[in-house]
Amino acid sequence: MSVTYADVEAASGRIEGIAHRTPVLTSRTADARTGAALFFKAEPLQRAGAFKFRGACNAIAALSPEQRKRGVLAFSSGNHAQAIAYAGALQGVPTVIVMPHDAPAIKVAATRGYGAEIVTYDRYKEDREAVSQALAEARGLSMIPPYDHPDVIAGQGTAVKELIEEVGPLDVLLVCLGGGGLLAGSCLSAKALSPGVEIWGVEPEAGNDGQQSLAKGEVVRIPVPVSIADGALTTHLGRHTFPIIQREAAGIVTATDAQLVAAMRFFVERMKLVVEPTGCLAAAAAFEGAVSVKGKRVGVILSGGNVDPAALARHLAA
Ligand SMILES: *Cc1c(COP(=O)(O)O)cnc(C)c1O
Repeated sequence: MSVTYADVEAASGRIEGIAHRTPVLTSRTADARTGAALFFKAEPLQRAGAFKFRGACNAIAALSPEQRKRGVLAFSSGNHAQAIAYAGALQGVPTVIVMPHDAPAIKVAATRGYGAEIVTYDRYKEDREAVSQALAEARGLSMIPPYDHPDVIAGQGTAVKELIEEVGPLDVLLVCLGGGGLLAGSCLSAKALSPGVEIWGVEPEAGNDGQQSLAKGEVVRIPVPVSIADGALTTHLGRHTFPIIQREAAGIVTATDAQLVAAMRFFVERMKLVVEPTGCLAAAAAFEGAVSVKGKRVGVILSGGNVDPAALARHLAA
């Protein structure tokens, strides 16, 4: 079953009134620096602080009444967990989130605060997929993965649909890349609404499995990368996401941690916006010239803003 732009349109209808239609921001300073017209889609202002809420909302809304009654399960300690917990709460669907026993207390508290039941596992002794699978089967829960799922991809595609509807056709589109849910969904919307657009994925330099996968023509798996871009530390693209990216994207470029910190600083100082390190990947590619943007109309997805204030302060002070 392959996902298409029609699925993004359906997702858009399902999440309307639940997910925010986030603003598109511009900056004369950023335009002057790059010689481009940059349009920043501000997903730090999305509910639960990241675009993941879109896919979570759509995937939950697409379940049957029976599945909704039983509830959903997600395994994650990051933005996907919070998105599922919050989207479930807003739609009256019980949620179970499987997290490592040593997950940061602040994240556990935030996820529980949205009403989710937290089940912990020992990350040194147990396999989280096995734990999740067993729990889902025992309790009849629907598992919603963070990126490799047609309804998740379709939901993530709504951000670029809104962006192009608001600002018109683009020459270039830059999208942060982890497992590829956001990039795949963005490809579907961008090619439908702005067919001439050139689409680039941007991943951490330390974890360029996407770049390697495009070069090799198949999904390449890497060890867990070390980067401050904690939302993009995936080890491989997905079965659903890779073919779309392979077909539609012009390529994949990378950003270093230092470039992400410089971009974070720019957004705080000049645009008064908190963007988490992962959320800065696409912007860093524009600022650092990893993709040529001069003289072009460029869409830049700022994917999320969930960074611990103490960590943000440390990054900015360094
Ligand atoms: C999950 C996430 C990403 C990566 O999204 P994929 O769909 O896995 O590629 C990028 N930025 C933020 C803030 C995220 O939470």
